[in-house]
Amino acid sequence: MKISSVSNLKKLLDEKGFDFKKKFGQNFLIDKNILNKIVDLSGVTKKDLVIEIGPGAGALTQVLATSAKKVLAYEIDESLKDVLSVSLEEYNNVDVKYEDFLKSNIREDIKKYKFNRLLIVANLPYYITTSIITKIIEDKLDVFSITVMLQKEVADRFLANPKSKSYNSLSIFIDYNFLLKDKFKVSKNVFIPKPDVDSLVISLLLRKEKKVRVLNEKAFDRLILDSFRFKRKTIRNNLKDYDLDKIEPILIENNLSLSTRAEEIPIEVYALIANVLR
Ligand code: SAM
Repeated sequence: MKISSVSNLKKLLDEKGFDFKKKFGQNFLIDKNILNKIVDLSGVTKKDLVIEIGPGAGALTQVLATSAKKVLAYEIDESLKDVLSVSLEEYNNVDVKYEDFLKSNIREDIKKYKFNRLLIVANLPYYITTSIITKIIEDKLDVFSITVMLQKEVADRFLANPKSKSYNSLSIFIDYNFLLKDKFKVSKNVFIPKPDVDSLVISLLLRKEKKVRVLNEKAFDRLILDSFRFKRKTIRNNLKDYDLDKIEPILIENNLSLSTRAEEIPIEVYALIANVLR
């Protein structure tokens, strides 16, 4: 059954006695144009495998299924089984795993598929957006792109530049691994139920070469996490267990100092520091 109209979707959810669950961040997208725009932006082709996080009633899944070779969707809410079995019955290239995406073993799960590129496309459950993006980065998946809808404020943090209030460790990890292809705003009015916040769709392309040269990624990751440990503290305090004699000259060379706060330091300087700390 095509969920091409709001009435179709509502009818299906009613028939199956589905109740929206706030705890799972369930705001279903009901605008066909936005669904198409998300899929177009992802750049998916008939040779690709798409991972979708949270198919909900399957509106985005349907569009993905017509554009991709295969869709593997993770849905935490088993009460959507009855709904998805109807909305996806005409699509033989969709597998739904009813499990928590955060606990999934993606590398293992995708082994059985043959595909050209791996893409991630989702209208994310907003309560765990950061954990989802962190998992994708930590799993070091060879993804071509990540195209996701998320809360505008969270997207702003992900894409923040140094010296802005929103710049944090995840902004750096995203910048290190990904390039922003494009983004667009989405109104609250195209969801049921209507969320309290505005949304943004962002598409990130995995960099072929990382943004900066890092000799030891573990040391780089640790340095960044430690630098941001206590937001109000200076680098001197947050990195008090590090060899500050090695760090200080690099900061000075870059017009910074040990009294600088983590959010003022650009990724290039973190890389220089990490490379002398190895
Ligand atoms: N894709 C649908 C759409 O665009 O209309 C639904 C999007 S809704 C914002 C988020 C979906 O993620 C819901 O279906 C919710 O049940 C599911 N979800 C929430 N937490 C999840 C998790 N940890 N793992 C997998 N799915 C999750």
